[in-house]
This record gives sequence, C-alpha cells and structure tokens, in this order.
Amino acid sequence: MGRFLSVVAKPGERVCQRVRVADFSDGSPVTIPVAVLAGRRDGPVLYVQAGIHGDEHTGIDMAWRLIQDTDLEALSGTLVVLPIANPPSYLTRSRGYMLEERFLQDANRLFPGNHDGLLTERISAVLFEDFLLQADFSIDIHCPLDGSEMVCFSHVGSAQDGDGHFARREGLATAFGAPFMFYRPQHLKLGSSDMTRSLAFQAEQAKRAMIMVELGLSRTINKAASDFGVAGIGRIMQAMGMLPQEGELPRPGRRFSSIRLLHGNRGGGLRLTAPLGADVSAGQEIGTIVDAFGAPVETLVSPWDGFVMRRMTYGAIATGAEVVWIGQ
Ligand SMILES: [Zn+2]
Repeated sequence: MGRFLSVVAKPGERVCQRVRVADFSDGSPVTIPVAVLAGRRDGPVLYVQAGIHGDEHTGIDMAWRLIQDTDLEALSGTLVVLPIANPPSYLTRSRGYMLEERFLQDANRLFPGNHDGLLTERISAVLFEDFLLQADFSIDIHCPLDGSEMVCFSHVGSAQDGDGHFARREGLATAFGAPFMFYRPQHLKLGSSDMTRSLAFQAEQAKRAMIMVELGLSRTINKAASDFGVAGIGRIMQAMGMLPQEGELPRPGRRFSSIRLLHGNRGGGLRLTAPLGADVSAGQEIGTIVDAFGAPVETLVSPWDGFVMRRMTYGAIATGAEVVWIGQ
C-alpha cells in the first residue's frame, strides 16, 4: 500500500486530504490537495497530475472528474490524483506564483526540485519525489499557454528510449487517443524555454515512465476537451489493466517531432488566417499585423512546411510575439 505525501488509502477507499507543505507570508498553510483511490484488487499505481500551471483549468476539471467518478469497485491498483499540483499559482489563475521571491518561476522548469530552495522549487521536489517516483506510470495534464490555442496532442517523450519505457509511453499515448502525437528530440528548446528541467525530461533521466497531454484552454473549463480527456485517461487505465477493457483502441495520432516558432517582427493588431491544425506550406501567407489605424504593416508567411500546431489568440501583439508554432 503506497503512501503519497503521507496520504494512504485502504483497498476500496477514496481518500481526499490537503497536506501542508509550506507557509504563505501571512502564516496560512500552503496545502496540496491529494486524492488516493485504491481499488479492491492489486494493480499498478497511476499518478495523474493537473494544475502544475495554475491557470490550466480544463486539466484541473479532468482531475476532479477522475477523483469523483472513478468506480472503485471496478478499479485494480491505485489512482493517485493531484488536481491542483501548484496551489500558489492556482490562487491567481497564473502559470506560477505571482509573489515568488524571484518573480514568477515555472514549476515545470525546476525539476527534480529543491527542498532548500524557493517555494516553487520545493513544490517541484514534492511532486517529483512523493508522486512521480512512487508511481508505475504518470500523466501530466497541460493546457495551452494563456493567449494561445493548441491542437490536442499527447507528448510521448523522447524516442531514444533512454528510460527503457519508450514502447509503453507510445502505447499509452496512443490509448489516450489525441489526434496528434509529439515525439520529442532528446534536447528540446522551445524559443526561450529550455525543457531539460521539465518533469517529462527529468522523469526519463530517473527512468520513470510518463507522458504529457495537452488539450483544452487556459483560464476556463472547456467541457468538450474535458470529456475527451477523461475518456482518454479511462482508455489508458484500461490498457494498464486497471479498469475492464471497453471498446477498441484508437488509431495513433498524426506524428510530429519538430516544433518551429514564428515570431512577429512588428507590433500591432494580429489577424491570423490559417486555422488551427491546418496544413501550411513554405511561403504561404498565414496572417497580417496591422497598425493602430488598421493598415497592414507586416504580412506573416510560414517559412516552413507543416501544420499549425499553436496559434496566438490575442488580438494585439508587441514585436517578437510567437504568433504561430508549426509542427513538422
Ligand atoms: Zn502547462
């Protein structure tokens, strides 16, 4: 019987507890809500993490539904769910804790964390040691950055198989059923964002199996995406033998292994014409930036062949904004 930040459940029990991990400046406790659902039969431990970015409310809704709706009588093994993995960021519906000592820190760029560091580093250490390392498989749920929309995809991780779990990651990502599947190059850098201290990268270093899924919208609960995601995690649990098998496995999503970022050079109003998910070819016009009077100042052209993986949804940008990401 596993313990997850001291929370433990007996067979057939659903235990929901808040565990204090730190203090806010007014002395009130920083608590992480932990749910442990223990099936009546033995089986694997699945860890589902949502809300490491506190504005990703569609993923948080999925986690709540897994906690409330999973049938304990049908469950084999243990389902461990953190619906709000980074509570300080949830308070302000933001990607990180707004009052952090060194400005906003992204908890998903601080793994494996540090128990002697900043508040957010300490939370990352708890997530890594008390949850990821205790599980047979982990799913980290994300939603697109505020101000953008993204195709629904599963992040299979590196195809290098450094952790010895590639086939399992790929198989369970396929079971999730996302229309796109991302195979990460060994060292991924997305613009200014270095992913080597993300949970997925560090899990591979620690030889723990996990995938990420990206869906829905930030700062709001998108019902259709939440429905899709809950069903997808149900299929993963079936594929792991934790729930009785129902129906066929989905076909694998469209595979991509490279993400290229197109930045706007001018500031102004943003009119994007290429729809999310659409195929584009090198040289194709995909939008326009206009000045304060509506006159065009820049024509946005895709330099690459691929598909529109992410689109900015803000209607106004400054120079340098990532207007479109192209998947290849
Ligand atoms: Zn996220």
